[in-house]
Amino acid sequence: MIPVNSVSVQPVRTEKTAWQQQLGELITDLPSLLHACQLVSPPEALADLERVSFPVRTTRFYASLVTPGDWHDPLLRQILPWQREQHDVPGFSIDPLQERSASPLPGLIHKYRTRVLLVPTSACAIHCRYCFRRHFPYDGHRIGADERQAIVRYLHEHPDVNEVIFSGGDPLMLTDKALHHWLQDLATVPHLDTVRFHSRLPIVLPDRLTPELQNVLTATRLQPVLVLHANHGREISPALSAVIAPWQRAGITLLNQAVLLAGVNDNLLTLRALSKALFAAHILPYYLHQLDSVAGAAHFAVPDEKALLLHEGLKEQLPGYLVPRLVREIPEQPNKTWLPAEGKL
Ligand SMILES: *Cc1c(COP(=O)(O)O)cnc(C)c1O
Ligand code: SF4
Repeated sequence: MIPVNSVSVQPVRTEKTAWQQQLGELITDLPSLLHACQLVSPPEALADLERVSFPVRTTRFYASLVTPGDWHDPLLRQILPWQREQHDVPGFSIDPLQERSASPLPGLIHKYRTRVLLVPTSACAIHCRYCFRRHFPYDGHRIGADERQAIVRYLHEHPDVNEVIFSGGDPLMLTDKALHHWLQDLATVPHLDTVRFHSRLPIVLPDRLTPELQNVLTATRLQPVLVLHANHGREISPALSAVIAPWQRAGITLLNQAVLLAGVNDNLLTLRALSKALFAAHILPYYLHQLDSVAGAAHFAVPDEKALLLHEGLKEQLPGYLVPRLVREIPEQPNKTWLPAEGKL
């Protein structure tokens, strides 16, 4: 704990934990990012930042995982804006999943019958260039106690729903206290049995996985699942492995979802190393997603034919429990579509 009187002229409530302090030190502009990664003379035209609507953003920790000086580093590629993000590409739109029409209440997306997505915050510690919510109308997206109560009422009225999935933004950007309120309220809904968090924060800020947060997640009758978002084996850092070990022992199911990304992980060696690194940290691969066709991310797309070949290769080289399901999100479908999709290929 930081002594309250040492630095701050603010009231006591601004006392910050280590992870919150690191959030105050994010890299939010291109020169700082290039400096942190020791990059000089770009080989391609970088985006004109004045015109990038989705600004540069990363933690210092994540930047430290990038190989210094390597413009082709697969981790760097996920956070570095390129000029081509501004190109219009047919088939790539600002709301590829048509989520706006599936939202019965602010902060709630109900597309699948038995589980709902909760979007309690728009904040992220990192801006992934491929993010399908990069055009989400986040301004004014504030889910407070009133919205929370409305969502809990909605869930009481929908007995088919048994799982609530915290998504975002990044739900672990919320304070422990806010998460505690959510889980307490959700536990009052009798037909809910599972609470799931999808988060990239453990990858980019392992210090977020505090014992206090672990206690919040295991404090109710709801069975907790944590789905990490790692796309590359080097994102399973020693720091993450160290902090996450007790989570598994506490009975929290640990899974990972990755997005198949050109120039990041679209080769067999990298995908296999990712599964192996996850397993070493007691995390199982869950999904390997085909990219959502969001405007600005076309340069990350991998053709289905190649995705299927890679997936076949993984099946040959890994035990079944280390092969993620290859999926795509198709609007109007009652669940994710497992590839190869019947009649689509
Ligand atoms: C992906 C997703 C879910 C969760 O799907 P699972 O197959 O259970 O992981 C739920 N709702 C929406 C809208 C989704 O996009
Ligand atoms: S929502 Fe996920 S993919 Fe999108 S910017 Fe945030 S952390 Fe990255």
